[in-house]
Amino acid sequence: MGRTFHVIGAGLAGLAAAIRLSEAGEAVVVHEAAGQAGGRCRSYHDPALDMEIDNGNHLLLSGNHAALGYLRTIGAADRLVGPAHADFPFADLESGERWTLRISDGRLPWWVFDSVRRVPGTRARDYLGYARLLWPPRDAAVGDVVACAGPLYDRLLGPLLLAALNTAPPEGSAALAGAVLRETIGAGGRACRPLVARDGLGAAFIAPALDYLGAHGVTVGFGRRLRSLELTGHKVVGLGFEESARLQPDDRVILAVPPVVAAALVPDLTAPSQFRAIVNAHFRVAPPPGTAPICGVVNGTVEWIFAFPDRLSVTISGADRLVDTPRDALARTIWREVATVTQIGDTETLPPWQIVRERRATFAALPAEERKRPGARTAWSNLWLAGDWTATGLPATIEGAIRSGERAAALAAQ
Ligand SMILES: Cc1cc2nc3c(=O)[nH]c(=O)nc-3n(C[C@H](O)[C@H](O)[C@H](O)COP(=O)(O)OP(=O)(O)OC[C@H]3O[C@@H](n4cnc5c(N)ncnc54)[C@H](O)[C@@H]3O)c2cc1C
Repeated sequence: MGRTFHVIGAGLAGLAAAIRLSEAGEAVVVHEAAGQAGGRCRSYHDPALDMEIDNGNHLLLSGNHAALGYLRTIGAADRLVGPAHADFPFADLESGERWTLRISDGRLPWWVFDSVRRVPGTRARDYLGYARLLWPPRDAAVGDVVACAGPLYDRLLGPLLLAALNTAPPEGSAALAGAVLRETIGAGGRACRPLVARDGLGAAFIAPALDYLGAHGVTVGFGRRLRSLELTGHKVVGLGFEESARLQPDDRVILAVPPVVAAALVPDLTAPSQFRAIVNAHFRVAPPPGTAPICGVVNGTVEWIFAFPDRLSVTISGADRLVDTPRDALARTIWREVATVTQIGDTETLPPWQIVRERRATFAALPAEERKRPGARTAWSNLWLAGDWTATGLPATIEGAIRSGERAAALAAQ
């Protein structure tokens, strides 16, 4: 009998691993604790809005090559939409100013020298100061390497790094910030086009992945929570679900669960243990004509506004300060800002709304947490780890999760 690969967890890391293995003709079974796949990247029907929404708005950039490769494999590359160039409209709620950052396509950052393209109130030499962040000392925080103040920081670096790290940038890992900058702004506008799943994360990343796996004979079992790993000195020999499943001698296991779950299953595993929240607010209202698909907001509670055909959605990162704010008050504050930026006019009458607070949206991208991220290999010869929290070199993102799953699959298949 041939070997079987057991993938535990059907988030993007687990799905990416299963897809790679099934593509290579391996026998794969996926075990997912929840009743649906997608983990932190999923769509669902929301009763308050009576519409399908995502657990959170997810922004990708055109330089996310693993995410785009994953979508091509499952035939869903056309499910992400975005502008032809890296144009980012911004609004400043304090001053009322509006501008569009236009990052030029090529690697040479000539947009920095063009006052119409760069951030208003900044000079070309301000950008040079941040070049230090491209290759920073390994254990430093962003605030140790660059000044976290001034117009360029307030209007671009701060919002960009907060969104990417989901952690207040001054305390965030400079190494992770550097990786983000090298792969985005440092790679030129062609790598920075913003992309969103206009018809939802489920329709882009999850449903086509499940179809692909089904067509390749992969079973995805739902309601299958792994409770224990049966380990000998150097191998996993059994999987403890509600019932216990013995593994064949050549079977392999990829554990693609969140860090807290992995740490409970794998003895002596060092893994990130601090997390940061993300708050999303959704309003069922058609955006006024001409509303930008994504707009950055500074000097407000709101950080990014996403316009979908039938709703306006807001993302606030590193949002631990908001997790205990009464929902009603939060919705009102956010709606006032959204109505102002989109020029809807009536800032007091709320359309149907929903607030989604993910308390453990991502691990905290702090230097100390970065040091705790393990690689894919473990002390057990048939067990590998995957997930956005493993040592991908990137913050917790779709791109990192997919890369981790693909790496675990490549190692496990060797
Ligand atoms: C609100 C929000 C907004 C975000 N915005 C962005 C963004 O704009 N851009 C971006 O790139 N990234 C964003 N992210 C991050 C991105 O969603 C994650 O990095 C990615 O989805 C993580 O995938 P994963 O497979 O590593 O983990 P998970 O999605 O957590 O998957 C783990 C899976 O394991 C399952 N599981 C847990 N325990 C067990 C068990 N014992 N047995 C079996 N299965 C188990 C879980 O149910 C889950 O399905 C955001 C995240 C959130 C929450």
